[in-house]
Amino acid sequence: MGKQILKIVPILLSVFLQGGSVPTHQREAAMPSVAVQGPLGMAQSCLSTEADSGKIQVYHHKTGETMTLSMDAYLQGVLRGEMQGDYPMEALKAQAVAARTYVYYLKNAGCTHPGGEPVCTDSNCCQAWVPVEDNWIYGPRVAEAVRETEGIVVTYDGAPIKAMYFSSSGGHTEDYAAVWNDLSYGYLQGVPSLNEQAYAFTDDVFMQEFSGWTILTQLRSRGYSISCDSAQLLENITNVRRSETGRVLSLQIDGVTIPGTEFRNCLGLRSTHFYLQKMSGGNIGIVTLGFGHGVGLSQCGSAALAEAGYTYQEILQYYYTGVAVEWMPFR
Ligand SMILES: [Zn+2]
Repeated sequence: MGKQILKIVPILLSVFLQGGSVPTHQREAAMPSVAVQGPLGMAQSCLSTEADSGKIQVYHHKTGETMTLSMDAYLQGVLRGEMQGDYPMEALKAQAVAARTYVYYLKNAGCTHPGGEPVCTDSNCCQAWVPVEDNWIYGPRVAEAVRETEGIVVTYDGAPIKAMYFSSSGGHTEDYAAVWNDLSYGYLQGVPSLNEQAYAFTDDVFMQEFSGWTILTQLRSRGYSISCDSAQLLENITNVRRSETGRVLSLQIDGVTIPGTEFRNCLGLRSTHFYLQKMSGGNIGIVTLGFGHGVGLSQCGSAALAEAGYTYQEILQYYYTGVAVEWMPFR
């Protein structure tokens, strides 16, 4: 856990407990759980005519177009959209391999986008993709990271993994199973992730303030039938279940159970590692640690590891448990 976090967490917990609120007992860089079913509820077949030539079809989620790109061009666009271009080279390479691996994984899972594409440009669904910008200062570094790892992916039992990644963890990454209650991804296990703050594009500890009315309105708009008075909301939040790393798995309001991921999405919180406290004036302060879902590779943590001398292969094998890093054709 980073030094800053170590100093701040006890303060947060102290404030949290003194406030008599719920008992204690976690930038989306990338994708949450990705659907493997198409819009009609059936996995769609991939556009395959270009696959053997190393091209990839990408659904542009804003224009509705299908773009056909070389894998290199696609991955450079992902790195432009998903990572800081000035990070150490081995971290950029690790990100390039994670992004490539995720495309292989999506292709194997069934191409689910409207035109049968394996992947789209929406970071909330697949991975962000940003077109080439002329004279972008980090363009050559991104191109180098992709070129130097050409064809390399992360595998588990010989298959490309669900290579999830995110911005920063707040000190420890999370088990996939803890967040999504699914034991299928044994390589997505939580590990310590140190010294992230040095590479974070924003503070790792962040406070947002909401009125009780805003929180209830957001939750009700998502179908949660909660009847408590907004002025008494904090007092009505109970049974906060946390993972071992501190991320909120679920909480109850007026007896209604809400998953931590839902609560986060509803309010646009940076992560599910959050603590609630009463603010002067009656509002509710929500303090989050880290940025992103916390599962898989931490981008800020990988930058710290690269700075400490880790190779991209070592970084990937640090954040993805029990995996191999190897060359594999895209087909
Ligand atoms: Zn998508």
